Amino acid sequence: MADERWTLDRIERERPDLAPLAALHGVLADATLRFATEGDGPEPRAAFSGPPALQWLAGRSLVAGANPAVIVDLVGPLTVRLAEELGRTFPETAEAVAELLAALAAPDFDWPRRVSTCFELAESVPHAELFRFVLLRAVAAPAIHLARSFSPPSLDRWSRPACPFCSAPPAAALAGPGSDRRLVCVLCGGRWTMEGLGCHACGEKSGERLRVLANRDAGPASIEACDTCETAIKVFHESYLLPGPPLAMELLTAALDLVAARDEGVRRDPRALAALYPP
Ligand SMILES: [Zn+2]
Ligand SMILES: [Zn+2]
Repeated sequence: MADERWTLDRIERERPDLAPLAALHGVLADATLRFATEGDGPEPRAAFSGPPALQWLAGRSLVAGANPAVIVDLVGPLTVRLAEELGRTFPETAEAVAELLAALAAPDFDWPRRVSTCFELAESVPHAELFRFVLLRAVAAPAIHLARSFSPPSLDRWSRPACPFCSAPPAAALAGPGSDRRLVCVLCGGRWTMEGLGCHACGEKSGERLRVLANRDAGPASIEACDTCETAIKVFHESYLLPGPPLAMELLTAALDLVAARDEGVRRDPRALAALYPP
């Protein structure tokens, strides 16, 4: 039932342990919505040179293939807005946010480069982890728009281990029938298919090299880890997911990542998790 599924609001109401994290994401989501609807932000319109299928054949995600000026003009101001909102709502971040905002206001701040490498840590920016988190929350806006607007690539057009919409490293998948792996992007909610049920990153198929970790107390998900390339992915059952990014389910099952790291030394790609958990 859709009304029984988890949302940020429901986590805030029913899970006191996770409520602060859900509240923080709620504040950023509201600020993003206001930014988009107040009419002072540019439309997150995709402007490709050629249809999405051509971008994918060239190995580019749709965010990477979109007109950089359009994306940068949206993501830059939205990053600043989200950082301001964070500093206002959570006073413990105010000092770091003020230093970050001062750096972002520099006339030579290299927004195009920062946006095109948004999953990497920008060591030259103060409070680099905070910056990456806020930047990724801003990149999510046009990325979600693109993931909603276009059907995913077919199997023969996209084989990179990255989201075809926003380039995020794969970190989550859907459980269910079928002989292929269905991935879901933790940043934009884009869904796409990769051939086979083996490891999404290296293709390992041996059951002895693939481990499945679950913990009933940590919520309805499991983590599949590959011993060959040491990557891991969280698996959700489709019936728990609403359309769009699986943010609420990620927060609800955050303990699973902690247990997997503590007990098994298994960690998902930190670049993808940077979009979910503030430093
Ligand atoms: Zn994505
Ligand atoms: Zn692997």
